[in-house]
Amino acid sequence: MYGHPEAARLVYLCLYALQHRGQESAGITASDFVHMQRHAGLGLVADVFSEATTLARLAGSIAIGHNRYSTTGSPHLANSQPIMVNAQEGPLAIAHNGNLVNCGSCRRRLVSDGAIFQTSTDTEVILHLIARSKRATLVEHLIEALTHVQGAYSLVLMNRTQLIAARDPRGFRPLSLGGKDNAYVVASETCAMDLIGAEYLREVEPGEVLIIDEHGLRSEHLPEQAPRAACIFEFIYFSRPDSKIFGENVDKCRRKLGKMLALEHPADADIVISVPDSSNTAAVGFSRRSGIKFELGLIRNHYIGRTFIHPDQDVRDFSVRVKFNPVRGVLADRRVVVVEDSIVRGTTLRHLVRMIRAAGAKEVHVRVSSPPIISPCYYGMDFPTRDELIACSRSVEEIRRFIGADTLAYLSLEGLLASVPQDRGGYCHACFDGKYPLAPEPAGKLQHEEAYWVPHQ
Ligand code: SF4
Repeated sequence: MYGHPEAARLVYLCLYALQHRGQESAGITASDFVHMQRHAGLGLVADVFSEATTLARLAGSIAIGHNRYSTTGSPHLANSQPIMVNAQEGPLAIAHNGNLVNCGSCRRRLVSDGAIFQTSTDTEVILHLIARSKRATLVEHLIEALTHVQGAYSLVLMNRTQLIAARDPRGFRPLSLGGKDNAYVVASETCAMDLIGAEYLREVEPGEVLIIDEHGLRSEHLPEQAPRAACIFEFIYFSRPDSKIFGENVDKCRRKLGKMLALEHPADADIVISVPDSSNTAAVGFSRRSGIKFELGLIRNHYIGRTFIHPDQDVRDFSVRVKFNPVRGVLADRRVVVVEDSIVRGTTLRHLVRMIRAAGAKEVHVRVSSPPIISPCYYGMDFPTRDELIACSRSVEEIRRFIGADTLAYLSLEGLLASVPQDRGGYCHACFDGKYPLAPEPAGKLQHEEAYWVPHQ
C-alpha cells in the first residue's frame, strides 16, 4: 500500500483476506518516509498483530505485508517476511510470492563472494543482489538483481519513500494493482482489495516493474522476454473463488472446470457434494451440468490450516481427522458424487471416502476437477516430492482402490485448458504433464538450505 495514512492497518486487513495463501508466519513493514518499522511473527495474521501495540507502531503511508508458507526455507521466525535489511542507501524490505529455480547456484556464488545470509529463503538472494548493484537507483538495482535470478516471483520492495512491485517474465504467480482514494495497493489476489474498499485497476504484467512514489505511478520492464506461464493451479485450488487473478474471475473458471468434468465423466448418482472449501465452486458446476442435486455433505472446521500446506506429516494426519465432519442426514442411503479439486498424496481423500461410507452412503464416486498430479512444482506451490505424489507411480485404477471409491475420474488436460481463458497467453501445467517452462537446478529446491542453513531458534 502506498499513499494511505493508515497503510499498515490496511495491509493487515489485506493479509487477513489472503490468509489462505500462507499460515506459517505473517509480517508487515511500514515507512513514514523517515523511519521504517517491521513486525513479524509465527502463526496467523490475527495472532501476530495487535491493535494497541504492533499496528500502532507501524506508522506511515507506505507498507508491505506477507503471509508465508515455506516452499524454500524452513518455517522459522527468521524466515518470516517481509525481510528487512540495512543497505548502503538505507533500509530496504522485500516480500516475495513464488520460488526461484536457480537460488542454490546464486546463493553459492554470493556466499563464496563474502555474503552472509540471515535466512534460508530464496528471497534473501534478491536482496543481496540488490545490495551489490553498482547502478544509480533502487529501481535499477532491482532490475539488475532480477536479471540474475530465474523462477517465479511476484514481489514488493520498499524503502523509506518508494514502493516497487515486480513480476517475473513468465508471470507464474498472480499480482494485481488497485486504487483506493489517492492510494495504490498491489496484492496477490483481488479479495484483499475488496476487503479494504479498493478498486481493481489491472494486473501487474509479467516482466513489469511498477514504481510508486511521490511522482505517482510508472512502469519499467525487465529485459528478459518469455512466453507467459501463469500457474493454472491457482485457478484449480489456490486462489480464492471471489478473487480475480490473471485478469479472470476464479469463480467463473472453477465452475467451468466442474461443468467440463461432468461432461467428460458423468456419474449415476443421487447427490453431488464437494470437499469444502476449495472444491465448492467446481462441485456447483458439476451439479449444474449433470442435473444432480448439490448438497452440503461435508462440513469443514475452519480453524485449521489447509492440509497440504503444513510441512510436517504428523500435523497433516491430525488435521484430516479434525478438519471434516460428514452430514449423515445428507449422505445416508445416497449414491454420492464427491468433487475434489486435486489429489496430491491421496491420504486425505482416502480418509474422507471412509468417512462418507461410514455416514451411510451407498456408493461413492470421486470426480477430480484437475488432471493427475505427476510432477512436483518448482515455482512456489508446496507439493511433495515425486515419490509422494500418488499419481506419479500409480494408475487411476490403483488410486481408486487406494482411496476406496466405487469410481474415480480426473478432468483431462485438454478439458482443463479449455476451461481457462486463453486470450492473455499461456499457462504452466507442468505438475500435470512434466513439461516445465523453466528447468529447475538439478539438486532441487532445498540444496542451498542443507548446505548453509543453521536455524536461529
Ligand atoms: Fe502451478 Fe503446477 Fe506450474 Fe507449479 S507446476 S506453477 S503448481 S501449474
